[in-house]
Amino acid sequence: MLKKKVFDPKGKRFLAITAHPDDLDFAAGATLLKWKNLGVKGSIVIATNGDKGSHDKNITSEKLKEIRKNEQLRASEMLGLENTWFLGYPDAQLEITQELKEKIVKIIRSYKPDIVFTWDPTLVYSIEKHMINHPDHRAIGQAVLDACFPLARDRLIFEEHEKNGLSSHCVTDFFLFNFDKSNYFEDVSEFIDKKIELLKIHKSQINEKTISGIITQWARETGKKTNLPSAEGFVYLRLKTD
Ligand SMILES: [Zn+2]
Repeated sequence: MLKKKVFDPKGKRFLAITAHPDDLDFAAGATLLKWKNLGVKGSIVIATNGDKGSHDKNITSEKLKEIRKNEQLRASEMLGLENTWFLGYPDAQLEITQELKEKIVKIIRSYKPDIVFTWDPTLVYSIEKHMINHPDHRAIGQAVLDACFPLARDRLIFEEHEKNGLSSHCVTDFFLFNFDKSNYFEDVSEFIDKKIELLKIHKSQINEKTISGIITQWARETGKKTNLPSAEGFVYLRLKTD
């Protein structure tokens, strides 16, 4: 049985940096709905426009891009997010580049989050969940960790930021999405119904008939690992700052 750790997010600010609209809501929706009730502020950056995520034969990339943007804006509103930034890269082709890292560093230096939510880049596949992790998830996870350490922290990196008034910034707390290796479990028993409501906003991505059962079951299975009725799990990492 894994021990439940308790993290107090009050007075802290988070930034979620994900590959696609809906990633955050699936991985951490209930936790963030719970934090919203505590008055915790946060924002989201979405690297791709999600324009390939459909099996619908009647849809074009152009249409899907718009649909997913609108779905995300509504989901962000339900989560009470302060900002939703879209980087606009094409779906399913995200690469770990200096250009991507610089864009992330700029946002980190201007928003100055204490906490970052992103994908664990070491999650290549999951035997437990019978899945290969999407390459965009791995790419954004790696780019974000690099952006936080050392790129955003060291002032001489991307020096033009400082000239434009953006000082360096050190993110200390990380919540990474890795369903196999979670070491932190948030009790979300009272927020599962709301999470399902949140996911239903992403109409283009879910099956309305099955989503409720899938999410409820997933939260129960995660909870079992730590003796909670329903939980979301993360790899939690705290950096030493001195
Ligand atoms: Zn995704």
